[in-house]
Amino acid sequence: MSDPLHIVCPHCQAVNRVPAARLGRDPSCGQCHRPLFEAHPLELSQASFAKHLERNDIALLVDFWAPWCGPCQAMAPAFVQAAQLLEPGVRLGKVNTEVEQALGSRYGIRSIPTLALFRGGREVARQAGAMGAQDIVRWARAHLG
Ligand SMILES: [Zn+2]
Repeated sequence: MSDPLHIVCPHCQAVNRVPAARLGRDPSCGQCHRPLFEAHPLELSQASFAKHLERNDIALLVDFWAPWCGPCQAMAPAFVQAAQLLEPGVRLGKVNTEVEQALGSRYGIRSIPTLALFRGGREVARQAGAMGAQDIVRWARAHLG
């Protein structure tokens, strides 16, 4: 039996302990009782970004985007599809750099969309430019081993 994984709830940000074997069986949050995974990226604020970055035992894949950016809009459905394919091994989140400017500058985001992949609180890969769902999944898996 492997150790439980810490999974941050996308709804209430509570840190759940989920046995690895139960990760793929639609676990729900012990605090708010909503599903921990809904095959959908979540919108991250500065506070929730920090929590998901630091407290999750699974990888975090972040799409830095902005509403005025055409390629970002074009990639949005692909990112949703990628969430369906990558969860529950990876948490997918979106940072609106118009709203969360501090996050964009902290991570030195110079062009959007930019995808950044984090594990254990550290950035392990970054890719600028729009990608299709399969390419996002391949790219993420290649960097997570
Ligand atoms: Zn919750």
